[in-house]
Amino acid sequence: MSNRRTFAIISHPDAGKTTLTEKLLLQGGAIHLAGEVKARGAARRARSDWMKIEQQRGISVTSSVMTFQKDGIVFNLLDTPGHEDFSEDTYRTLTAVDSAIMVIDAAKGIEPQTRKLFEVCRMRSVPIITFVNKVDREGRSVFETLDEVADALALDVVPMSWPVGMGGVFQGVYDFATRTISRPEGDGREFLGKVEPLTEGAIPDDIAEEMELGEAGYPAFDLEAYRNGDLTPVYFGSALKNFGVEALIDAIARFAPPPRPQPSEQGIIDPERSDVTGFVFKVQANMDPQHRDRIAFMRLVSGTFRRGMKLIPSGLGKPIAVHSPILFFAQDREIADTAEAGDIIGIPNHGTLRVGDTLSERNDVRFTGLPNFAPEILRRVVLKDPTKTKQLRKALDDLSEEGVIQVFYPEIGSQWIVGVVGQLQLDVLVSRLEAEYKVEAMLEASPFDTARWLKGSDAAIKGFEDFNRSNLARDRDGDPVFMARSAWDVGYQQERNPDLVFSATKER
Ligand code: GDP
Repeated sequence: MSNRRTFAIISHPDAGKTTLTEKLLLQGGAIHLAGEVKARGAARRARSDWMKIEQQRGISVTSSVMTFQKDGIVFNLLDTPGHEDFSEDTYRTLTAVDSAIMVIDAAKGIEPQTRKLFEVCRMRSVPIITFVNKVDREGRSVFETLDEVADALALDVVPMSWPVGMGGVFQGVYDFATRTISRPEGDGREFLGKVEPLTEGAIPDDIAEEMELGEAGYPAFDLEAYRNGDLTPVYFGSALKNFGVEALIDAIARFAPPPRPQPSEQGIIDPERSDVTGFVFKVQANMDPQHRDRIAFMRLVSGTFRRGMKLIPSGLGKPIAVHSPILFFAQDREIADTAEAGDIIGIPNHGTLRVGDTLSERNDVRFTGLPNFAPEILRRVVLKDPTKTKQLRKALDDLSEEGVIQVFYPEIGSQWIVGVVGQLQLDVLVSRLEAEYKVEAMLEASPFDTARWLKGSDAAIKGFEDFNRSNLARDRDGDPVFMARSAWDVGYQQERNPDLVFSATKER
């Protein structure tokens, strides 16, 4: 049985994801890393102009991978960008995890971003462990929080612990499994390791009563229901004061699924399969804008990867030797010698690897399920200096390969269109064009409202194209896309062309 646990933390900004990440790394034995999660962000930001956006908005645009170990289990924590503005990066990162921790603020409950991210997890049946953070502060009642999670997300909830008071009367966290209370100590009222059994009078009567009701009033934990994504165990704690963090690590170690089988065109690929397969879920440009090399993040689905191994990218057809892969151990990049199913490795390359690519030893697998999403915002790209067309084309191709934006080249005319699912992606586009490609561009309103990938027989597509050339574009791969002026337009065309599919996503 694999000892890998690959997971992400989903939350609304400010719920405490960064703080919890630090504490997980600290508990995981990576002590030198504590307190450095944000510092790393700051050091990074200095490196390139476009990251000023991060600075201004106090957000992290780039995801990374952190690995830590505890009691023989290797945890791979994939960081999802935490800003309110949704990006495709976030979706794709969630395709590479086997489970997630959902952090919610005890005073605020389920917030919009939590819900969106949760929906992505549900789409893929990713099991969720809930962490109700900040119980050292005044929060909603425990019942209210539990019921909100159950109602808003249509999940069974099982409290695994219970706060002994909150805010001014906070006296620790009770754990139902061990029947012990973790107590605050010192001026900081932190958890420093003091654990007491629950004895008569150890906690105020009203809270004891509430806990009893809580234990009796919810179903018992059911591993299968959790792994199916139907039930979430709920832990209460304080990342800041270190309550509940250890329980959370134990929960991931004990309950969270080891590497899951992954869907492919050739059927389900089992992690036990002996040859190496994996897929690229993210491509990141080099931090140094002068260099065009990138790092492709590959999730290993099966096999044991060894340095120097030859793998065949599905987009290329011929093998590449992976000589200097990167294993992500927190922010220290170490050269990986071996990696196993569930691990993430970084593969430096010059644009050969793209999001959605499969890599395999035998070139006999194509993973599915890493979609491009129909853009919600479309903009025309207008150059300030019209002689820079070539540079712009190169930049748009590069950035769409990285997944920063999607690009559509209309069949008629020369006005290129970019599409995104969140406004932030547009800001990143404009500043990266300037910083890395020396191209000044403006984004103007587009005559189109949305885009749909066309699927059907060649003849059907050709027939449609002949009549709708002014609404047709090609994406980066040369695939045909219907540019629609409205959602109504899509419905109308779909009705008139029943042999074509107007798809809102494109799987590579
Ligand atoms: P993120 O935006 O989700 O990464 O949130 P952060 O980890 O940056 O936390 C947001 C704010 O909440 C910071 O000021 C933290 O110090 C604070 N915070 C995080 N966890 C706790 C907690 O358990 N208790 C209290 N009182 N504050 C917390």
